[in-house]
Amino acid sequence: MPEKYVDLHMHTTASDSTSSPAEVLEYTLKVGLSAIAITDHDTLDGFLAIQKLNSHPELEIIPAVELSANYKGEDIHIIGYLLDHQDDQLLARMQEFKIAREKRGEKMVEKLNQMGLGLTMGKVREVAKNSVMGRPHLADALLQENYVNSYDEAFIKYLGYDGPAYVAKKYLGPQEALDLIHQFKGVAVLAHPGILKRDALIVDLIEMGLDGIEAYHSQHDYRLTNHYINLARKLGVIYCGGSDCHGKRKGRVLIGTVKVPYQCLTMLKTVQQARLG
Ligand SMILES: [Zn+2]
Ligand SMILES: [Zn+2]
Repeated sequence: MPEKYVDLHMHTTASDSTSSPAEVLEYTLKVGLSAIAITDHDTLDGFLAIQKLNSHPELEIIPAVELSANYKGEDIHIIGYLLDHQDDQLLARMQEFKIAREKRGEKMVEKLNQMGLGLTMGKVREVAKNSVMGRPHLADALLQENYVNSYDEAFIKYLGYDGPAYVAKKYLGPQEALDLIHQFKGVAVLAHPGILKRDALIVDLIEMGLDGIEAYHSQHDYRLTNHYINLARKLGVIYCGGSDCHGKRKGRVLIGTVKVPYQCLTMLKTVQQARLG
C-alpha cells in the first residue's frame, strides 16, 4: 500500500488565505491527500464549509483553529486540533474573537486616517467579506485604494510590527489558549517553532499543558524538521505539521508540498483519546 500523507496546517478565506473553502477542497483532492486540517485563525467557519462540501468519505477533514497568544514578549501561535466543533460554547468563543479582531481593524484604520489617508471601514469589510479580519485585509484594501504600490509595501510603510498603524491583537496568555483548547476536547500544538526560534519556551509551554510541536512546516527546512522531531521525542510530546498554505498569498498554493506522514494524525488522535479516557 502506498504511504498515506496529510497536511495539517492550512487556511481559507474564513481567515487570511486567498483560497475559498471550495478551492482548498478541490486542490486537496487534486494532490491526493488522506486528511487535511483547516487551521484558520480564530474561526471554524472554513472547516465547517469544507466539511459540508466534501462528498469524499475517504478524505478526513480535521477541525482545528490557530490561536495567537503572547508569551515573554513573543507572538506565539498554538493550534487546537480535533476540537469539538459541535459545541455552541466554542463557536461563541470564536465569535468573540471575530468581534475583537474587527475592533482592532477599526483602530488601525483610525491610525491610518490620522496620518492623512482616507481609508474607510466599509472598504476593509468589502475586502474581508465575512472573514475574521486581519492585517492582510487592510493591506489589500490599501492596495486597492492606491495608497501603496504593493501588498508588501503596506506592511513596510504602515502595518508591520514596527509600523505606525500597527495595533497589537488582544492576546490570550498561553495558559488561557491551552486551557481553551483542552476545554473543547482539542489537542494543543505549537505552530512553526522554527520561525519563533526560542526553543526554551517550548519546555515552559509543555509544563502548561502543550501536547505537541509542529515539526513539518513550509518554512522549516529538512534540518529544522529533524531538529523538532528529535526535540519532541526528547521532551515526550507528539509532533505533526503542514504547509501553512495561505492560498496565493505566499506566491503559490502550498497544500501537500510538505510531506507529513499519516502517523502524525494518528498521534493527535491518540493524545485526545488518552485525555478523554
Ligand atoms: Zn501561524
Ligand atoms: Zn497558520
